[in-house]
This record gives sequence, structure tokens and C-alpha cells, in this order.
Amino acid sequence: MKFEDFQLDTTILEALDKLGYEEPLPVQEEVIPLILEGKNVIVKSKTGSGKTASFAIPIIENIIWDERDPQCLVLTPTRELALQIKEEFDNIGAYKRLKSAAIFGKQPYRFQVQDLKQRCHVVVGTPGRILDHLQRGTLKLNNIKTCIIDEADEMLNMGFIDNVKEIMGYFPGNLTTCLFSATYPPAIQELATSFIPNANMVEI
Ligand code: AMP
Repeated sequence: MKFEDFQLDTTILEALDKLGYEEPLPVQEEVIPLILEGKNVIVKSKTGSGKTASFAIPIIENIIWDERDPQCLVLTPTRELALQIKEEFDNIGAYKRLKSAAIFGKQPYRFQVQDLKQRCHVVVGTPGRILDHLQRGTLKLNNIKTCIIDEADEMLNMGFIDNVKEIMGYFPGNLTTCLFSATYPPAIQELATSFIPNANMVEI
């Protein structure tokens, strides 16, 4: 299989070529078409499998550049992961001039508020600080089309699951939700059953 088979925008194919991604990894073969079609997905896979690009590629494909308000929210447990995911979006979206922001705690609010005021297609953040911005009204989710819950089991271990559930209460209807987790303990299953209806299961 080739990335061309997904009928992606040439700007994305060009970026993948520059990154040296010659062909889709197994998780990408499974997940890219599902997210392109707006299907909910639950993916059991480990880091290092190429899961970040498996959601970044279809999300970037579906981004409408002219819309100013965020179209995708990625929730992730740590600032390091938030920065890595932002970098993957920026690399794959470079020729589409994709705008992204990484939002995490122990950083001044001022610069984050500035980032969120500008055109921003994708917001990647840790749950606590994302919730703060929602409560302050400095982040609006009215235009979100896709939500990624990354490393859900880690978020559970770090005590973020209630924050994640509270954030999900801010979403508009018609949302595509994708959850990624290396393990699938009961608390994650419960989250998936209540918030991610009719999900396609992918296990790599
Ligand atoms: P991840 O599981 O998202 O952390 O990705 C693991 C590594 O695989 C990262 O260094 C990516 O840059 C790399 N990667 C992702 N997709 C591909 C691909 N299709 N071909 C080669 N490398 C890739």
C-alpha cells in the first residue's frame, strides 16, 4: 500500500516524502481511512508504531484552512508528548501552512492566550491546562470536528481522566473521537462506552 492510495492532498504527500515516510505503517493503513471518513476509532497500540501520523495525516487532510477557530483537539498526558505531536502536525502540515498550538501547564498563560487568539487549526494539550482555558473562555471548542485522546491509559494513571471527561462536555455534536491506548483497563473501557459510540476497534 502507498500513501497515494488514500488520495491525500499533494502538499501532504510532498511533506511525507520529505520526512522519508515511504509507505504507511500498519497502524496508519488501518486508521487513516477511518478518520478520513469521520469514523470513531479506538486503537490499541504502543508508542513507536507510527500512531501519531495515523491521526495527524487524515486530520490535516480534512482541515479547512480558512476557518480560524480550532478544528481538532488532541489531549495527551505530558508536555513532551504535546510538543512531539505538535511537531509531527507541523512537519506533515508544513506545505498546507497548518497552524497548531501546544498548550500545557507550568507555562505563562499570556503566550498561550495569544496563540489561541490567532488562526489555529489544531490544539495539542494536557488536560488540566486545556480545561483552565475552557473555563477562562480563552479556548473555544465550538468548531472542533475531531478529538484525539492519546495515551488514554497514561492519562488514567496520572489522574487526568475526570478532566478529560469534563473537557468532552464542551464539545459540539457531530464529533469524530479517536482514543489511543497501549492497554485497555476497565476505566478506559467505560470512558469509551460512554463517550465514543459505534467505535471501530483497531489493534496493532
Ligand atoms: P510514533 O509511534 O507516532 O511515536 O512514531 C514513531 C516513529 O515512526 C516516529 O519517529 C515517526 O517519525 C516514525 N514514522 C511514522 N510514520 C512513519 C512511516 N510511515 N515511515 C517511516 N517512519 C515513520
